[in-house]
Amino acid sequence: MSFQNPVFIPGPTNIPESLRKACDMPTIDHRSPLFGQILHPAREGVRKVLKSESAEVFIFPSTGTGGWETALSNTLSPGDTVLAARNGMFSHRWIDMCQRHGLTVEVVETPWGQGLPATRYAEILAADKQHRIKAVLATHNETATGVRSDIAAVRRALDEAGHPALLFVDGVSSIASMDFRFDEWGVDCAVTGSQKGFMLPPGLAIVGFSDKAMAATKTAKLPRTFFDVHDMAKGYANNAYPYTPAVGLLNGLNEACRMLLDEGLENVFARHHRIAEGVRAAVRAWGLELCAAAPEVYSDTVSAICTPEGFNATDIVSHAAQTYGVAFGTGLGEVAGKVFRIGHLGSLTDVMTLSGLATAEMCMKDLGLDITLGSGVAAAQDFYRATPALTRKEAA
Ligand SMILES: *Cc1c(COP(=O)(O)O)cnc(C)c1O
Repeated sequence: MSFQNPVFIPGPTNIPESLRKACDMPTIDHRSPLFGQILHPAREGVRKVLKSESAEVFIFPSTGTGGWETALSNTLSPGDTVLAARNGMFSHRWIDMCQRHGLTVEVVETPWGQGLPATRYAEILAADKQHRIKAVLATHNETATGVRSDIAAVRRALDEAGHPALLFVDGVSSIASMDFRFDEWGVDCAVTGSQKGFMLPPGLAIVGFSDKAMAATKTAKLPRTFFDVHDMAKGYANNAYPYTPAVGLLNGLNEACRMLLDEGLENVFARHHRIAEGVRAAVRAWGLELCAAAPEVYSDTVSAICTPEGFNATDIVSHAAQTYGVAFGTGLGEVAGKVFRIGHLGSLTDVMTLSGLATAEMCMKDLGLDITLGSGVAAAQDFYRATPALTRKEAA
């Protein structure tokens, strides 16, 4: 591997210099007002990135997976039923976590490559007259397949059924990169981590709770200690944590939010869309297909690319690492060996993206696939030339 090349994995993402510097700081007293000057603006920044006026933001030394556990353990009780669709490895792992916590999961099996089946959710919720279902789980962006789902449609399914279940959204690979609307979509728990759209090293679980989710914590009986949001809230009131916070990462998060909000969230989303469209133009030029079934579900943060029958897609990833010092993502679970993934989220430019596409071409050619060198790069170049990026100044 090279420390100079950008990574093209869908998290952790490339870290801008300013954020590396923000994370690198001397020790301060983490139970002092000075710490509060980092913590409170970071929480406020996250709230804005979530597009929420009132979400309670909690930040744990953990990762996205800890964020899932925070959502479940603070709001639900053993034996509660939750509704979830399995359409990729991340939704699968969340379901697995629910089961290990003693929850009953009503699983809607969904072909990998498709989005969440909102109409099926609507039928199930409408039929659940006793309101057995306490929470609906929705993976906004299924990172394993490069599929973005329609969270507004899941909200409508709940509303049309007049169903009171909480709405939990895994936004680990969408928040801060693709449009996310905590308040407008009526999200009750949003979950993300530091190492994807926030462009930081791994180490933080970042969650937003609605008033309704906070109310549910009062009766929830699942055991929780490290991830207890009330302990955390008590700490926050004293500029502290119930334990030792990841101060450097929080300082980085504060700076990351400032960067994102300075650029403007809509500009951030447009930048991701544009970069992704260039990648998709390359995939078409290679004559390959995306795992994502239709343009409506194309993810702007990761593309899972199907390779021909009989070819092991993971070879591309190992070859890229060994030969060119570049990281792509492997296929996971059901699509292992069938797809390789190009992560295109976080801090990425046209030029960086073109280098990744060029590397993917070299790998595919080296491994005997019928690829014309430069074909995907040229398609992306044409796209980027025709749709110039906003300069920083215009964006601001
Ligand atoms: C990365 C990811 C996770 C897991 O997050 P960790 O930070 O690795 O625990 C969960 N869900 C989605 C959609 C992800 O992309």
